[in-house]
Amino acid sequence: MMVDKVNVDFHVHTVHSPDSVITYPFLVDACKAGGIDAVAIMDHDVIEGALEFSALSEQALRRGEWAPRILIGEEIRTSGGEICGLFLNEHVSKGLTPLETMRNIRAQGGLVYVPHPFDILKLKRLKTQELEELSGMIDIIEAFNGKPRFPGANTLAWRFLKTHDFPAGAGSDSHEPTRLGTVFVTMDDFKGSGDILEKLVTAEITGKLYSPLSSAYTRFKMRRASEG
Ligand SMILES: [Zn+2]
Repeated sequence: MMVDKVNVDFHVHTVHSPDSVITYPFLVDACKAGGIDAVAIMDHDVIEGALEFSALSEQALRRGEWAPRILIGEEIRTSGGEICGLFLNEHVSKGLTPLETMRNIRAQGGLVYVPHPFDILKLKRLKTQELEELSGMIDIIEAFNGKPRFPGANTLAWRFLKTHDFPAGAGSDSHEPTRLGTVFVTMDDFKGSGDILEKLVTAEITGKLYSPLSSAYTRFKMRRASEG
């Protein structure tokens, strides 16, 4: 039997993140152009964008149009750094401890996805010791982030994953449509949260880095253009 493969960008921000300019039409066009089948929406501390974009995709599919599959997530600012929840149903509040946040994600059937764990120039990240201590509560580690501040961050993440048994995720961390899909995971098609973990084991990651500065410049230009 042929297994369908899907390309998934696990880290995308919509306009519901104050620092992103990705609207739903931009997201659809970028996915089409980049061959991306599914995206995880990881807005900062809000879930509304993910819920809204998911509903829009479902409506489009019902009309017989092509639409990317939306995985509902949130990038949550905890007292110990940023942690993402995936397959969420409800918003998770910011400001809790990492453990409380992970419990909250798990309690609603979600997966704990740790973004950019070794971007050592970012203050908002879990430290290696916390990764070790909380490893029983972590489902996926982001092995490739498109926009690290520290250029060696992804190499350090790979090194960590060589000696730790976590499925590797990857995402563009895009805040503008031109970066969406610059990082993605190619994996067997999946159904739910348990299935995705199993299929990530044999997945392949494709990625290109871009700089946070060029990202900020693109957004500045887009905002200028939309202001006319
Ligand atoms: Zn992010």
